[in-house]
Amino acid sequence: MLRRQEDTYKHKGARAKLIAELEQKGIADKSVLQAMNKVQRHYFLDAALDKFAYEDVAFPIGNDQTISQPYTVAFQSQLMQIKKLDKVLEIGTGSAYQATVLAELGAQIYTIERQKELYEKNILGYPFKGKYPMLKFFYGDGFKGLPTYAPFDKILITAGVSMVPEKLLEQLKPNGIIVLPLGEEDKQIMTRITKLPNGELQTESFGEFIFVPMLEGVNPKG
Ligand code: SAH
Repeated sequence: MLRRQEDTYKHKGARAKLIAELEQKGIADKSVLQAMNKVQRHYFLDAALDKFAYEDVAFPIGNDQTISQPYTVAFQSQLMQIKKLDKVLEIGTGSAYQATVLAELGAQIYTIERQKELYEKNILGYPFKGKYPMLKFFYGDGFKGLPTYAPFDKILITAGVSMVPEKLLEQLKPNGIIVLPLGEEDKQIMTRITKLPNGELQTESFGEFIFVPMLEGVNPKG
């Protein structure tokens, strides 16, 4: 994959337009909008897609996976209510665009990918090498979380799940939140669950989204 690594006036203009569009679609959190205005989405895409990088659509990134639609990234980032130095676990690194937006918001990000090739692509070719020392990549099964680094303030799942993975709830701090697209293959409801100090779970539901499914186990060949 060939990536374009310069940020021209055209890119900046297209990005500013995208941010205005996200605001119009209801994204109100200024810090999220600002972070997305800083992170060059075209650096995560093949150069062939360069001129579409700031359209509000998802794109293929190889290995049958996609880079999420900007609106979805904005929506999830907003629900995460990131504070500086929040310790965040992300399931489904994919292109690492979402992880980078959270890192730009000041979070410490631990992101897991089950597909080895996608993981290696980020280890070798992450476009902002050295810029976000608090962003760390892991290869593994997100259903298991990262017990060595737990507990987390917040967890974000960027693949569709039919139920809340038990091990992830265990790795959440009291008052921690988990944001996840919850539902069936063809459609999920964006959900935020807060783990109250007494262990009770408080659930809030937001709009409908469509994600690729969260799959069990790792894929060493993809
Ligand atoms: N956050 C990504 C988009 C994710 S697409 C971005 O910003 O581009 C969903 C990703 O979740 C895919 O890369 C898929 O391989 C990964 N995935 C699916 N099931 C997983 C699991 N059990 N553990 C870790 N990653 C998983």
